[in-house]
Amino acid sequence: MKLQSVNPFNQELLDEFEVFDNNSLEQAITKADQAFNHWRQFTYSKRADALKRLASLLKKQRDSLAKLITCEMGKLYKEALAEVDKCALACEYYADNAEPMLAPVQVATDASRSYITYQPLGIIMAVMPWNFPFWQVFRFLVPVLMAGNTAVLKHASNVPQCALAIERLVKEAGLPEGCFRTLMIGSNKVEQIIADKRIKGVALTGSELAGRQVAKLAGYNLKKSVMELGGSDAFIVLDDADLNITIPTAVTSRYMNAGQTCISAKRFIVQSAIADQFVEQFKQAVSQLTLGDPLDSATTLAPMARADLRSELHQQVSYSLKQGAISLLGCEQGEGNFYQASILANVKPGVLAYQEEIFGPVASIIEVADEQEAIAVANDSAYGLGASVWSQDNERAEQLALSLEVGNAFINGLVKSDVRLPFGGIKRSGYGRELAAEGIKEFTNTKSIWIK
Ligand code: NAP
Repeated sequence: MKLQSVNPFNQELLDEFEVFDNNSLEQAITKADQAFNHWRQFTYSKRADALKRLASLLKKQRDSLAKLITCEMGKLYKEALAEVDKCALACEYYADNAEPMLAPVQVATDASRSYITYQPLGIIMAVMPWNFPFWQVFRFLVPVLMAGNTAVLKHASNVPQCALAIERLVKEAGLPEGCFRTLMIGSNKVEQIIADKRIKGVALTGSELAGRQVAKLAGYNLKKSVMELGGSDAFIVLDDADLNITIPTAVTSRYMNAGQTCISAKRFIVQSAIADQFVEQFKQAVSQLTLGDPLDSATTLAPMARADLRSELHQQVSYSLKQGAISLLGCEQGEGNFYQASILANVKPGVLAYQEEIFGPVASIIEVADEQEAIAVANDSAYGLGASVWSQDNERAEQLALSLEVGNAFINGLVKSDVRLPFGGIKRSGYGRELAAEGIKEFTNTKSIWIK
């Protein structure tokens, strides 16, 4: 079996790689285990120096790395540049802030002194998706390394070049050999790796289906896991929203990365009083999106990452239309991996687009009478990842945001991960957190020390 790197824009085979045999796999895990014994002894400041060197390599190589991302998974070049920049920012932020986040906490008890300390666990395995092939890995990796762990990665099968580039960068940054290894394997090897006693935890970012499988394996092996899964984020437009700021963000949120983002707005829940105006302006803005070569700066809508994902999306759209949704725009497959910028209206309970995650450039419009109905519809979802509320009254929007069953709620802003804030979901969007103090502690041993 080979892992293939194929350009989603023109289907050109860019490269292919043999998967690891058991021998190579064993060597990689042995090295990561040896590296742990070395790396855990590093002071925070020595770890921070290494992470800062990694940041500077990302910055120096940003153009070539962004080009690699675009050619391998299809996103717009300017989006790929922003992704590389965010990885560098994460390295710098955790280099500066990991130590205070993990500082021992003194607690008054009946002891003469007692405190909580956070110690590294060992090798943590990451199973990652292709949609942000650098950022998803760095979001996991940087806090894990700063906490003193080492890591192995099973990246998505369609981004092997990105996976190898990250391994090369970590090596060039001078981290001890084995601190981070890319395992060139298919998902069939994940079970064996999770069962290995040297692996102490697993983090998966991906679909609900993969999350269920990997969480089950982690549970069986009694290993800590963090699951960052799918979402069907609500974008709630109240009757006093300023459409001049709402519409551009609505378009970015749904159509960037060809709609293949876990926290992109998927369900546009719009109060009736403003619905006609919102729909007209939104449709006008979406119809301006231009499909084309993602390396060309004139292109504003990228191809989807794989043809099978595009076909699956079209099945979801066609089924929703059969169930009573109305096509306001697009709803057709384009050439190659392209899918037209699309809008579905009349999306009601029972319609597939109301219930399932739509992972592509298709917006669903759901009209509601008032705030109470907006909350009820937003929460009427199996997912609980992110949501945004749009209103000129921040207090009104904040009250609504507090009632939403999600891990991340934004008011008058694009839902995004921020290196300073914990990120994650509830319900079928997963459990656990990445980033911030909550995230960095996920893969540590929270140890209580009690001294008489
Ligand atoms: P995916 O098919 O679940 O793949 C994700 C990773 O899991 C890949 O490395 C994949 O390997 C692996 N995998 C799949 N099935 C597996 C199994 N049974 N056992 C072990 N590993 C398995 O997801 P995707 O299509 O790449 O990504 C899209 C999904 O990810 C969407 O649902 C999206 O919302 C979600 N996502 C969530 C977040 C978040 O932060 N919450 C962020 C980004 C994406 P192969 O490639 O070899 O199949």
